[in-house]
Amino acid sequence: METATLPVQEKIPAVSVFGVRVHAVSMDEAVRYILRFVQEGAPRQVVTADSSMVMMAQSDEHLREIINRADLVTPDSIGILWACRRHGIAMPERVSGVDIVSRLVQVSAQTGLRLYFLGAQPGVAEQAVKRLQAIYPGVQIVGCHHGYFPPEAEAGIVQQIREARPDVLCVALGIPKQEKWIDRYRHVLGVPVSIGVGGTFDVLSGRVRRAPLWMQRMGIEWLWRVTHNPRKISKVMLLPRFAWKVLTNHHAVEVVRDE
Ligand code: UDP
Repeated sequence: METATLPVQEKIPAVSVFGVRVHAVSMDEAVRYILRFVQEGAPRQVVTADSSMVMMAQSDEHLREIINRADLVTPDSIGILWACRRHGIAMPERVSGVDIVSRLVQVSAQTGLRLYFLGAQPGVAEQAVKRLQAIYPGVQIVGCHHGYFPPEAEAGIVQQIREARPDVLCVALGIPKQEKWIDRYRHVLGVPVSIGVGGTFDVLSGRVRRAPLWMQRMGIEWLWRVTHNPRKISKVMLLPRFAWKVLTNHHAVEVVRDE
C-alpha cells in the first residue's frame, strides 16, 4: 500500500468544537492514518463528524465520550470548517464518509485492502458493491449486510464479519447508532478499523444523488438533503442551533493541547 508508507505525524492535531474533539486532517492524511491503523491491527474507531453530530453530542454524553476516545475524527461538514475559521483555526478541508469510502475502494482495487459494508436498506449495500466492482475491477469488498436487523441478530452479524476478515468495516446505520454499534462491538470483531459512514451506500449504490458540487461548496448540502428526504428535517433543524452557538459562544472552538 503505497500511501501507507508516507509519514504521518504521531499525534494528530485536534480542535474541540463544543467539547467534541475533531482532528485537523486533510482527506489524504485521513486515508494515510486509516491505512496505518490497518497495518497496526488494533481495533480502531474512525468517526466522520458533522455539525448535527456535534449538536447531538451536547445532550448525548455517551456519544460524546465515544467521539472523544475515537482514534480519528474527521471534519465532515462545512459547518465545522466554518466554526473553526470563525474562531481563528484553519481546518484543511471537509473529509466525508462517502469520500473516505470512495478512496478506500480505489486503494482496495490497487492493493487488495479488504472492505466490508454494513448498513442501509436491504439490497442497497449489494447494489453499491456491484456498481463499485464494475468501476474498479479487483476491489475486495469481502461482505455486506443491510442495517435493519433486530438486536438478537447482532451476534450472527458479528460472526459473519469476523469470518469475512475485512481490514476496514464501513458502518452505515446513521448517527449515533453507527458510532455506538462500533464502540460496542469493535473489540470482538477482529477488524483493524471501523468507520461510521452515514448515507454512503445510498450514494454509492446510485439510489441517492449527492448534492451538486456548487451546493457542497456553498455549504448548503443540507438544503438538497432535506428537499430530497423530508425525514432529514429533524437533523437539519440542529444546524441553525449549531450556527447560533458558534456565533454567540467565545469558546466554541479551541485547540486541543494535550493530543
Ligand atoms: N440505517 C440503517 N439502519 C437503521 C437506520 C439507518 O441501516 O436502523 C441507514 C439508512 O438506511 C441510511 C443510513 O443508515 O443508509 C443513514 O443515512 P443518513 O444519511 O441519514 O446518515 P446520517 O446523516 O445519520 O449520517
